Amino acid sequence: MLGRARPSCGSRETEQRQPQQSNCNKQSYPTPSGCPTCGMILTKCAVCATELGLTLGKKCGRCSTRYCGAACQVQHWKEGGHDKLCKAIKRAGGAEQYNANKKYAEAVAVAATACAEDTKGQTCYICTQAVHWKTKEGLVRMCACRGTAGFAHVSCLAEQAKILYAEAEENNLGDKAMNERFSRWHACSLCEQDYHGVVRCALGWACWKTYVGRQEANWARRLSMTALGNGLAIAKHHEDALSVQDAELSMLRRLGAREESILVTQGNLAGTYASLGRYEHASRMQREVYSGQLKLQGEHRDTFIAANNYAGSLIGLQRYAEAKLLMRKMLPVARRVLGESHDTTLRMQYIYSVALRKDPAATLEDVCEAVATLEVVAPIARRVLGAEHPLAGELETTKQESRTALANALASSK
Ligand SMILES: [Zn+2]
Ligand SMILES: [Zn+2]
Ligand SMILES: [Zn+2]
Ligand SMILES: [Zn+2]
Repeated sequence: MLGRARPSCGSRETEQRQPQQSNCNKQSYPTPSGCPTCGMILTKCAVCATELGLTLGKKCGRCSTRYCGAACQVQHWKEGGHDKLCKAIKRAGGAEQYNANKKYAEAVAVAATACAEDTKGQTCYICTQAVHWKTKEGLVRMCACRGTAGFAHVSCLAEQAKILYAEAEENNLGDKAMNERFSRWHACSLCEQDYHGVVRCALGWACWKTYVGRQEANWARRLSMTALGNGLAIAKHHEDALSVQDAELSMLRRLGAREESILVTQGNLAGTYASLGRYEHASRMQREVYSGQLKLQGEHRDTFIAANNYAGSLIGLQRYAEAKLLMRKMLPVARRVLGESHDTTLRMQYIYSVALRKDPAATLEDVCEAVATLEVVAPIARRVLGAEHPLAGELETTKQESRTALANALASSK
């Protein structure tokens, strides 16, 4: 199954795509976390959180929970409650599966709480109930649906995605159908926009929990790792995202994944570095990802996404002139290839106007251009992505800030 399709799984700045095989990329970046030799995400001692490689530590013989050594294992058994949990973990399918199930339940609760106000008095469009019959979870909605459309239970969304994808596998549908169906793990089937915030994170855990038990080279399992990493990053759990994306990158290299897939994962990882404020490191990685995608895929969505990510970390480093130059070069191409209202094009314009306004060397014309751009782009984002979407919110805030900056600049020029 290694050569199977590669759907979009979403990245922090954006959406991203995935697997296929080819030679590994030889670059090596520091690997602060994540198991370097397996696709596991539980890489720490369950008691003291010491980082464990594949060969380090000790596994519980029954449930595979991992420890740095006998002392922690004994303590976990005697005082940490493992004597009571061990069998349950084994029954659930081992430590990794048990963790995924637990994290999933927690993430669903967080998502339902966050959506409680918005979903009051509504019902699930899949099961038609307000409260889920089995899990008792509440409703969510963090996409571009409006009015009474799009309310659902995370469990119902996950069940739907799982069934749709299983059907595609059974009937051996082509790559395109596989891609489309897998996208149910991160995009709404009604408005077709990606979920954001904590709902995306809950779906990421749902996806990982569904496929974690498969062989690591399995296509769906590999993608579920991307879905989880992106979900964690989008919900701002950056340290956790780092650990998952790092493990994913090592796994792809080891499996000899296609360079495009490796670049996408590197891009996602670099985005997480940027979110953690490590802009130097992030921008070096982003630059390589961008030039790699440009060479491999040319005028492709992944290339535009990489350009956005690179420009974003340049702004983080206050290298505004370079960020502007890159965006000026790519914007007309993205408009032509993706269209004016594609979220990647919208984000490109957002980054461009931020670079215009933030540059200390900005002229009055630059600030005017930023305001003019945002006046056009902000309403498009609200319409396409929904007013609740983070990018729509960021555009609105930046628009207000730019207007203020323009008013100040005009006042002081008099
Ligand atoms: Zn330990
Ligand atoms: Zn155990
Ligand atoms: Zn439901
Ligand atoms: Zn929707």
